[in-house]
Amino acid sequence: MIISCCDSRVHATSMFGAETGEFFIHRNIANLIPPYNPDGDHHGTSAAIEFAVSFLKIPHIIILGHSNCSGIKNGYHLCKGDHINEDLMFVNKWLNILKPAYDSLEQVGEDNLMIRTLEKDSIINSINNLLEFPFVQQALDSKQLSIHGLWNDIGSGELEMLVPETMSFKTL
Ligand SMILES: [Zn+2]
Repeated sequence: MIISCCDSRVHATSMFGAETGEFFIHRNIANLIPPYNPDGDHHGTSAAIEFAVSFLKIPHIIILGHSNCSGIKNGYHLCKGDHINEDLMFVNKWLNILKPAYDSLEQVGEDNLMIRTLEKDSIINSINNLLEFPFVQQALDSKQLSIHGLWNDIGSGELEMLVPETMSFKTL
């Protein structure tokens, strides 16, 4: 399963040289995974993950982030308290998922640098949220599932992978 951004510049299948039908793909704004919240409301991303893990029994989940992500950029400014796009009700509520990753940023450096860091840190935040889902934890415990974080530079095509031991990204 690949969870990637809605951004049309992210070619989740061609990046891996894959054919149609090889991946179960879910796209949302800024490739975010919300916290586990079984409140009976409508949760598209959680439903996609549940279907992939509990029904399809997919062996891998890849969270695929990317450079120049407008979603992450907007989320960054929202978390910072900048008043932008305040009329986007659903988008802004969704981007609130980023808050823990934003809060753990070291508040130094220019916005652009911070936003790039947030693009990667939010992948870690999403993995942390993913681990809260009981069926994900169950699949991990029984060694039927592994989780991966990737970040794609859409300008150069470069791909960076999250190294779990150091929780940092390494160029592939
Ligand atoms: Zn994006």
